Order: sequence, then C-alpha cells, then structure tokens
Amino acid sequence: MDSNLAADLADLPDLLTAARDYAAGVLDGLDERPAAASRPDLAPVPLPAAGVGAAKALELFRERWAPGFSGSAGPRYLGFVTGGATPAALVGDWLTGTFDQNAVTRLDSSAVDLERETVGWLRSMFGLSDAHTGTFVTGATMSNTVGLAIGREWLGERRGVSVARQGVGALGEVAVLSGSPHSSIYKALAMLGVGRDQLRTVPLLPEREAVDVEALEAALAEAAGPVIVVANAGTVNTVDFDDLRAIAALRERYPFWLHVDAAFGGFAALSPAHAHLVDGLAAADSVCVDLHKWLNVPYDAAVQFTRRQDLQVSVFQNSAAYLTVPAGDPDLFHLTPENSRRLRALTAWFTLAAYGADGHREIVERNIAAARRFGEGLATVPGARLLSPVRLNVVCFTVDRDLPALLDAVARSGEAFLTPTVHRGVPALRAAFSNWRTGAADADRVIAVLRELVS
Ligand SMILES: *Cc1c(COP(=O)(O)O)cnc(C)c1O
Repeated sequence: MDSNLAADLADLPDLLTAARDYAAGVLDGLDERPAAASRPDLAPVPLPAAGVGAAKALELFRERWAPGFSGSAGPRYLGFVTGGATPAALVGDWLTGTFDQNAVTRLDSSAVDLERETVGWLRSMFGLSDAHTGTFVTGATMSNTVGLAIGREWLGERRGVSVARQGVGALGEVAVLSGSPHSSIYKALAMLGVGRDQLRTVPLLPEREAVDVEALEAALAEAAGPVIVVANAGTVNTVDFDDLRAIAALRERYPFWLHVDAAFGGFAALSPAHAHLVDGLAAADSVCVDLHKWLNVPYDAAVQFTRRQDLQVSVFQNSAAYLTVPAGDPDLFHLTPENSRRLRALTAWFTLAAYGADGHREIVERNIAAARRFGEGLATVPGARLLSPVRLNVVCFTVDRDLPALLDAVARSGEAFLTPTVHRGVPALRAAFSNWRTGAADADRVIAVLRELVS
C-alpha cells in the first residue's frame, strides 16, 4: 500500500475529525462568506507523482481553492434557483460517501428500498398518486430528459413502432408543444434525437408566462396525431404556472403525453395558500421535480415520476447475463440513463425524516414571504420596478441603471448574488429565494445594498 494511503488508513478517525472541524467552521462563517467569490486566477499544477496524504491535501485545498468558492450554501445567494443543504441533508451526504452503496439492485443491499421509501414520501408531498413510480436522477435536466424519453416511447406505441428498438427515425414527425419551456427541454430534445426545432411554442396568456389553453387546444387540433405537451409549473423568470387541470382535460379530445416540469414550482404543493398552483399535477404522465433546489439537499438530486414504468423500461433497460431481468419492480439500472449510481436518495431521506412535511413547509413559506418582502422593498429602491407580480419565490425586476454594472457591484459587495435575465424583451434581474437559511432579514439586507448602489 502507498505509504500515504497506509498512514491515512491508520489515522482515519483523526482525519475525519479534522474534516469535520473544518466543515463546521466553514458553515459557521457562511453568513460572512461573500455570496459570490472573486475568483483568484489559479493555473492548474501538474499531477503529483507522490501525494501528500489527506491532511496536507486538506491544507492545500483550504489555502488554494476554498477562498475562491462562493457562498452558494448561504442565505443571500439569490442567483438561478439555488438551495442549500439542511443539517440533516448534509449528514446524509457524508453517510452516502461513507457507505458508498451502488444503489441499483436488491441482490446485496436494502439501499434501493430506502430510495423507494423516499420516493413514496416525495410522492405524497407533491400530491401524486400511487400510479406514479419515481426514480432519483442527478437534476431536473435529467428528469425532464427521462420524462420526454418515456413520452417519445409512448408516441411510438401510438404509432405501432418501438423507438427504443427501431430508432427515432421510425417515428416520423414529432411535435412537442409548450408555452414557456425551460432551456433544458430543448437540450433534452436534442439528446433524444427529436431535435430542438420540433418544439413549437404555444401563445401565452396576456402579460403572463402561462400557456393560453385555448391556443394549446388549437395547436393540438392542428397537429395530426399524438404529440408531447410540456406543461410548466413554475417558470424561472416569474414562477408562472400553466393551468394543469385544464390542460389535462384536453386529453379527452386529443391524444398527448403530458409532461410537467415542476422543478421547483412543485414545492407550492407544500403551502396550503399556494397548493392550488399545482392543482392537476397528479394527472401528468411524467413529472420533473428538482431536489437540490427547494428541498435543500446538496447537489445533485432530482426525481422523475411517471405512470408508465413499462415504457420507461423499454427505453432504459440494461439487460445482461450477470444482471437481473427487468420485471415487476425493476432494478434501477433499467430505469434511467445511469447504470452504477450513488445512493442519491439518502440526503432527501435524512432531511425528510428530520424535519418532515411540516419542517419543509416552513422553509417554503418563509422563502415565499421573503420574496414578497423583497418585492415590496423594491419600491424604496430608486429606479427599480417589478416586471411581474411575486407569485412564489422569485422576484423578477428591473432597475433603470446599467444592469451588468449593477449586478457586478452587488456581487462585489459580497452581500448577495443575483442573476440576469430578459423578460418579455426587457433586460431584468432575478432574486430567487430557496435556501433554508433565508428569511425576511436577508431580503431587507439585499434591498439595502441595492438602495445604496443606485443612489
Ligand atoms: C432548474 C430547472 C431545470 C434544470 O435543473 P437542473 O437541476 O439544473 O438540471 C429545469 N426546469 C426548471 C423549471 C428549472 O427551474
């Protein structure tokens, strides 16, 4: 055994204590760590032939790399839609690496059953039915990809071909309809061989990012044969929601696969005052929910749900003599693009076991209240105006200033991190509230920074 490796094995408990102490210090200082770091210009060094051992590697990391890491786990990182990691989720993450399960089969471990329990908890949290099976994937992009792959196979079933066996060319023309699809939908369509250009955007309601259901019906009537509809439950700019119930009802007249991208909007289901926004989610054929956003588990984790696990197996089955045959309750390498995979469910299991539905409802409602407060606070920022009502946890606004310079100044203040967008042709800023630590005081602090920077 390499001498460093042997020494680390002998010192393992001390090593873990050192890592624990360092991690505790990092988390303790999160409130002061700049939300966005100014990155030092570090050139890559060559691979060392002889290593330094884990304790020295930790020192190297602390000195060389950690200072340039962002405070994305902290309370005022409001860019994109970013969650942190609850204490229990972090414990789960450590133990995921500790046990290092390859969570794919029941042959040797109950890890897969833990995933099944966790998926059951999530299913009930989002109000889905027992008809929906779910599997962990790395993120919402992969969840959307799996959902659309199953939808693609469903189109094949309707047309009497198997895309999984014959290829997408056997399918003929494919139409995918959506109002305000997330960029990852286009990526998924490119990966699936359907093609980005097959997405037809359907007109939206006036002043909204939600699809006009009448226009969707017209597009369905125009399409010859079955199509895929991607409904959006929580758009990234203004967190708008398609009318899922009305869309699902259209299936009585037109055949289509209904995929719902509820990456973070699905968490509206936790708040009684907002649950109506995802009414009808259970009618979807496939559903995407991200967990590393609003569930506040570490990267990377999401779930894909579907009612047609049989079609899912047609696409993703990975049969070999030494593996199991997909039947009944298939092993997990028959269900998603990954074969070997970490026990990604453990972080979600821990946070749900620790805080339950009530604890996570409190996070969601506190974040929504913080977004509201931020939206109201903008009235005190000269030149700022909302571009949309604050529906949930993202505030979309603009300021009558040089926006890139303002964003840069916000980042350099260390107080917060915001990201840019364009909303209905207007250059804009977004503040997304989805971290378990974030509350009203953080909203006030960011408003104060903006006020100072623009006046
Ligand atoms: C974030 C997001 C995605 C993509 O999620 P990743 O986890 O980054 O892959 C897809 N759809 C919506 C609505 C999102 O907010």
